[in-house]
Amino acid sequence: MNSAISNIIELLKKTGGRLGLEQTYPGERIIDRIAVSDKIIRFKAIIKMDDGSAGIFQCYRIQHSDTLGPYKGGTRLHPDVNLDEVKALATLMTLKTALVDVPFGGGKGGIVVDPKKLSQSELERLIRKYTVKLLNDIGPNLDIPAPDVNSGEREMAWIYDEYRKHRELARGVVTGKPVELGGSLGRISATGAGVAMIAVEAARDAGMPEKFRASIEGFGNVGVYAAQKLFDLGVKIVAVSDSSGMASDTKGLDIPALIRHKEISGGVRGFGDKTLPKEDIVSIPADVFIPCALGDCIRKDNASRVAARIIVEGANAPVSLDAEPELVSRGVAIVPDILANAGGVIVSYFEWVQNREGFYWEEDMVAGRLREKMIHAYRKVREYSIGEGVTMREAAYMLALKKIARAVRVRGIQ
Ligand code: GLU
Repeated sequence: MNSAISNIIELLKKTGGRLGLEQTYPGERIIDRIAVSDKIIRFKAIIKMDDGSAGIFQCYRIQHSDTLGPYKGGTRLHPDVNLDEVKALATLMTLKTALVDVPFGGGKGGIVVDPKKLSQSELERLIRKYTVKLLNDIGPNLDIPAPDVNSGEREMAWIYDEYRKHRELARGVVTGKPVELGGSLGRISATGAGVAMIAVEAARDAGMPEKFRASIEGFGNVGVYAAQKLFDLGVKIVAVSDSSGMASDTKGLDIPALIRHKEISGGVRGFGDKTLPKEDIVSIPADVFIPCALGDCIRKDNASRVAARIIVEGANAPVSLDAEPELVSRGVAIVPDILANAGGVIVSYFEWVQNREGFYWEEDMVAGRLREKMIHAYRKVREYSIGEGVTMREAAYMLALKKIARAVRVRGIQ
């Protein structure tokens, strides 16, 4: 019992216990109702590969909770996707949307595939087939997919178009779309921008200088924008790693140049003053460490190597929960995923609102409202964690749970 989902359920139970949920709502079994996903959709998608053979792909969509609004969450394309992981990620979405006050529930999709091994037309056939199989389960008021690891605007455009073909023209069926199809300005950079805002706040609260040192694991959509925003603020990014390796420079990396280097060479390797193994990113001397790739970047076996005083979780579940006690006992503050990376779903909400209104906002308005929501949520979590004497993750879970529990309660037993 040590998978991501069992860890999350354990924490839900622990924090629910602290809140006295079962005493507050006797007989309502609130935690049991929140812990279990509403609906698990699993199927295989079969597509014709370019060579004429059949490609078979395992697919999932987990609808975890619609207590606070339509199911909402990204679509992950990765060879390691599995049912437990998608369940865990869907549960995190429910907590995330509740915590940052956007009127959505939580869901997540996944396809077991390495998209780099497919041609663009194979990938398009796969995403379109995935969408067709989900036609009865998604919709602008039902379940709204979005980008996640290895999916972005292009894939969202295909989902939107396939839904339009078979059902109706509903811009709000998916978020993270290209602007031409009703996407929001500022959606692509939103998760990274939000991560950067939180890193700056957390560093300031810890009494660090304005030009603190940060290290970043992962240089995809989240890592690139987080790095760029921090760089613009004068923060010293001393190391960045991705699947190719690590780039580091104690004087601070030139992030725009690193982005160009990655565009040309495909990865960060070979940039900076020395090339170190990517696994060493956790132990690079830095004030703030920002894991922005996959889950379990920091585990029990490498937690002791973490050099930073603050970890900002740009990815979902990058610190495995069994690694947390050691970090906490060493005084490492962890800003949890459901807070730190919520910028993506916040701007997804703005996109959905704009689609409903048919009135599109300027980029400054998106950025300003994103900032307001992120900082408000951060302050709320920090104050609650200090007031209750709990970690920021526990505080975030407790605040989200309280809100969901009230809604479960007023909705009644169905
Ligand atoms: N996949 C992102 C997340 O984990 C974004 C979800 C969304 O925008 O719906 O938060």
